[in-house]
Amino acid sequence: GQSDSKRKKVASLTIEPDLFSDDPITSLWKEWFMSGKRICKKIDAPVKSDEPIYKDKVRFVCISDTHGKLEELLPHIPNGDILVHCGDFTNLGDRHELEEFNEQIGKLPHPHKIVIAGNHELGFDDSEDLSLRNIFFKDYGTCEGYKLLTNCTVIQDQMIEINGIKIYGTSWHPLENFAYYRPRGEPLLEKWNLIPDSTDVLLTHTPPLGHGDLVLRWIAHFRVGDVDLLNTIENRVKPKFHVFGHIHEDHGVTTNGVTTFINASICKGYGYALKVVNPPILFDVPLKPGF
Ligand code: 5GP
Ligand code: MN
Ligand code: MN
Ligand code: MN
Repeated sequence: GQSDSKRKKVASLTIEPDLFSDDPITSLWKEWFMSGKRICKKIDAPVKSDEPIYKDKVRFVCISDTHGKLEELLPHIPNGDILVHCGDFTNLGDRHELEEFNEQIGKLPHPHKIVIAGNHELGFDDSEDLSLRNIFFKDYGTCEGYKLLTNCTVIQDQMIEINGIKIYGTSWHPLENFAYYRPRGEPLLEKWNLIPDSTDVLLTHTPPLGHGDLVLRWIAHFRVGDVDLLNTIENRVKPKFHVFGHIHEDHGVTTNGVTTFINASICKGYGYALKVVNPPILFDVPLKPGF
């Protein structure tokens, strides 16, 4: 049927999972980028933090990867119509972290607050096989933890429409041992195949290959974004904006000429070295006629 042909169209590549070397996709991206087959241009944030809010536009304010440090960021979050958080708001998804986050996000004035979980929100993924979870994380997390977040709207493989703007959110990513893990290739692509063609603003936790996905380890640079997510975005969904986080090293905005890609990671580093360093990223979507 239709979904089969759609799948063939986007499943142009299968990448063997190769965690923490990631070389196959780094070389693949280099080849695509050098030959001009794929475009990635670094651009400034679409809207400056002190720009006024316009009546005929919807102001989005994007953050991600606050890892328990939202309180510190609160004074630096500009107002807007829709606040989005692309996951990793906690470190382990524990109850007290969730209660704290809920209280803090509740202080913000934005009329809409859309949140997706990240890999650190242990327990949010109802389908998680606990026997596959890293032994270190075994006793952490909160089952159905999203129920504690009463001051925002948590979406998972779900579309929400605000002022006629279609926002779709999904948390799946290729980092093993954590919540919402799926191997690269067909298992992740199955999740990307759920994203509707009509999506205007796509929210994921992981970046796609080539945009906001550059990891630095000593002197090595490699790209860890998902190739099938890039294919899905460029060949099928073509959203106006794609917001994500997860790769703390590559905050900023890029474009391929069709979609604006936003890595909204707020924190840099990991573990005890996590620090709030990056500002929220803002963009406007013109109101459709009738809204
Ligand atoms: P987090 O643990 O907050 O999800 O991710 C933190 C950091 O882990 C990222 O900034 C990045 O350095 C690293 N990381 C996340 N996902 C991947 C991946 O798929 N491959 C590699 N090599 N590193 C990753
Ligand atoms: Mn579309
Ligand atoms: Mn993170
Ligand atoms: Mn993450």
